[in-house]
Amino acid sequence: MENVLVYDDRLASAEYTPTHPFKPVRAKLFIELLHRYHNVHDDRFVIKAPLPLNEELLYLFHDKAYIDLLKKAEKGEFAPEMLHAGLGTEENPIFRGMFQLALTIAGGTHAGAMLLAEGAARTVFEPLGGLHHAGRSRASGFCYINDIAIAMADLVRKGRRLVYIDIDVHHGDGVQEAFYLTDKVLFISLHESGETLFPGSGRETEIGAGEGWGYTVNIPLRAGTDDEVYVSAFDAVVPPLVERFRPDVVFAQLGADTHKDDKLAHLNLTSNGYKRVVSGINEISPKIMAMGGGGYNVYKTAALWTLAWSALVGRDPEDKFTGLVGGMMYGPEADAGSLEDLPFVLDGREKELCVEEARRVVKYIKKTVFPIHKL
Ligand SMILES: [Zn+2]
Repeated sequence: MENVLVYDDRLASAEYTPTHPFKPVRAKLFIELLHRYHNVHDDRFVIKAPLPLNEELLYLFHDKAYIDLLKKAEKGEFAPEMLHAGLGTEENPIFRGMFQLALTIAGGTHAGAMLLAEGAARTVFEPLGGLHHAGRSRASGFCYINDIAIAMADLVRKGRRLVYIDIDVHHGDGVQEAFYLTDKVLFISLHESGETLFPGSGRETEIGAGEGWGYTVNIPLRAGTDDEVYVSAFDAVVPPLVERFRPDVVFAQLGADTHKDDKLAHLNLTSNGYKRVVSGINEISPKIMAMGGGGYNVYKTAALWTLAWSALVGRDPEDKFTGLVGGMMYGPEADAGSLEDLPFVLDGREKELCVEEARRVVKYIKKTVFPIHKL
């Protein structure tokens, strides 16, 4: 079975606004790193360019009125409702090609999910996918169309059991909204606490409702949290729940904005913790649809995604340029000279507070959610 990368240079060269923190070009840097560190032949991977999603599928999640607004905005027309729908703000600017960009990213996630469902691939990674904040009828957090919710909704209606694991530093609120009431999807999000970070939701007490009671799991972490605290919370909660649920496909949003050098958030992960968690996700996934999500340190994000890919396909990265004196170097070398970070461990009172908070949250989930799954 193939490993598939969903990618197109034309999408990666899109730009929201020149000063906007969301830079699609990260995906291009990632592909460059991948070619430096991975042998295309050995990894048996193919790169497939995404096509725009069939518009009918948008309505598996989104409201028609909102999609009509998106189309209008792209044509340069203005309607006052746009602001209520989160459009035309600094966060979610209106720019040329925005609808088409979002539609094509969603098409890529959907096509990847179908390859997995048909058994034509074991691993799919779409670096530009994972737009987890887009709501049913609003744009939010740089996300216009929720590629994840749409692709998952299509597989759910085809009878598949899905797990969603979101390790982006921000809460996966749009995806949570989509599946809050169902037991066909097990939703798990680890994120910096909403007390200190956008979008503010994702408390541990949000555990689903109705038939979905116990099928939404939130692990909010204290600002400052390091690899050690993050990994121990992940290990305590995620593998037991996923193994019990027995998914057909796992969707994983692999946002790189948990990194300590990310400028939009306040966690302290390094490549060591990130890699360990992606490996952990991979081990419990029969098939995996991975998406890039956030990451606002452009070079670090490309490096972390390269390590994620290595973990997903089970091959260590090998630097083909090692030993080339005066040979090619990648990008601004100072930022990306090595894929891996030195270990970082928080200490003192701050560390204690992070440990205590993570313990409290894990205890709460074990008490309220685990019994629903007979754990
Ligand atoms: Zn994020």
